[in-house]
Amino acid sequence: RCMIIALVVMSTLLSMVCQSRLLTDSLYHELLSLPIAGHLHVDPESISAASINYGLIVQEIPAAVLRPSRLEDIVTLVAFAYNGSSIPLTISARGCGHSVRGQDLARDGVVVNMTSLGNERQGTTVSWSQSLGHYADVNGQQLWIDVLEETLKHGVAPVSWTDYLYLTVGGTLSNAGISGETFRHGPQISNVHEMDVITGTGHFLTCSSQKNPELFYSVLGGLGQFGIITRARIALGRAPERAKWVRMIYSDFSAFTTDQEQLISRHGRDRDEELDYVEGFLLMRRNSDTWISFFPPSDHPWLMSLVIEHELLYCIEVAKYFDGRTQSTVDKDLEMTLKDLSHVPEFLHQKDVAYVDFLNRVRVGELELRRQGLWNVPHPWLNLFVPKSRIADFNTGVFKNIVLKKNITTGLVIIYPMNNDKWDARMSAVVPDEDVFYAVGFLHSSGFEDWQEFDLQNKEVLLFCEDNGIKVKQYLPNYSTEREWMQHFGPKWRTFQESKAQFDPKMLLSPGQRIFNHN
Ligand code: FAD
Repeated sequence: RCMIIALVVMSTLLSMVCQSRLLTDSLYHELLSLPIAGHLHVDPESISAASINYGLIVQEIPAAVLRPSRLEDIVTLVAFAYNGSSIPLTISARGCGHSVRGQDLARDGVVVNMTSLGNERQGTTVSWSQSLGHYADVNGQQLWIDVLEETLKHGVAPVSWTDYLYLTVGGTLSNAGISGETFRHGPQISNVHEMDVITGTGHFLTCSSQKNPELFYSVLGGLGQFGIITRARIALGRAPERAKWVRMIYSDFSAFTTDQEQLISRHGRDRDEELDYVEGFLLMRRNSDTWISFFPPSDHPWLMSLVIEHELLYCIEVAKYFDGRTQSTVDKDLEMTLKDLSHVPEFLHQKDVAYVDFLNRVRVGELELRRQGLWNVPHPWLNLFVPKSRIADFNTGVFKNIVLKKNITTGLVIIYPMNNDKWDARMSAVVPDEDVFYAVGFLHSSGFEDWQEFDLQNKEVLLFCEDNGIKVKQYLPNYSTEREWMQHFGPKWRTFQESKAQFDPKMLLSPGQRIFNHN
């Protein structure tokens, strides 16, 4: 059955490639006359790989794929699209293609395969200055795992992460880059000092809060709309060696959120008691395959019976990093931090792991899913930021009345709070207008035939929020109309449009986001 589906998908793709080719025949001739012709690929294999992404939901056929060997190749392409192309030519920088909708695709345009610039670790240079402390200059196409491994050689590391490290620097900085460290250090976009960017007019510019600040703030969280990030200067901190990794189970949502909010609050807490990472997730019988392996096998029967009894449980996951210097006090500090929490008393599970293994934890799951053939499947994800004041309504209306009642196998559902004051309002990323808000991620994996069911559930969730006045913001947003984008950006929409007119006036970049390109 899978073979038949794969054949149908391949033949559809091939026929779309042929149609697309007829349409863009003269464009090919123009492209192939450029000095970068040797780096442009139009063979079916390259085209088909650049037509889909991790989501495996949206397909858009590009006219060609650029595999640049140096930054000048990208500048040549963008300058040609801006000045010389007879037909409008869109361009999408593609990191690892880990987007789940069409964000990194470019119908009839050129997909720039950023990773062919070289993912070698030499792309990371660690330096120190009086004003910035330690920082790293990293290439836009680099994977965060490579940045981590290189910076650790100097005893330092970035302070803000994503859960998964096989993502590119340019890709996460175009969104925000969030994880359990965000409450304390802000998203990855709050930890950037400077960037090099190729704008939609083919200019290569360095930007920071002092130099070309409009470009700097627009690009951070800018969904690839204003320029292609080729270098970022990232803030670093002293690297710890190990992590105490703790999970606590809750049956009561109000106790769960009260404790999560207390753990991310800085009030009345001295620095030793501050955690480094706070996240959380839902435990349901239906998605037990996504979380059961997080716990020791001896706890499985007990946990499953608790889940069956309550239908829905919540887990807070925290980490405290330490090194030789803080090893003797870490347990006491952690005990102080966790002592008054209201989790199920019998359940507090603790591990002591290497810092790298903690940060790279999702890789273990990825390799297992790949082994089972469950990694390259559709991912109809929905990621939201939910204001703290409505998170209890969200629990009742969404978790209990939609997710629990649906008869579909759901993926991991994550939920954790963050502090608004760690986000810079000048950046393009949008978050709810409250001091604290929650990231909620429905990380569905589906079969090739049933992803629409998950999408229907996602729509139901969004409709519930709209009908009940819960002012959520989508993270990794996906809309198709200008009205929805205007609503998403709210007061930032005007600046967003003005920056587009300034840095990409011909609307060439990242068309797959469908913000300015609706065709
Ligand atoms: P792509 O998907 O290739 O590109 C994403 C967008 O950025 C596109 O619009 C593209 O045109 C643009 N872009 C890419 N490179 C550049 C560049 N150099 N300059 C300008 N624009 C560029 N996100 C989080 O914040 N936190 C998480 O914990 C997290 N976990 C994840 C786990 C998994 C398993 C996966 C698949 C994704 C996760 N993400 C997470 C989402 C991830 O941040 C996005 O998919 C993001 O787009 C990075 O992926 P990428 O590098 O493959 O970029």
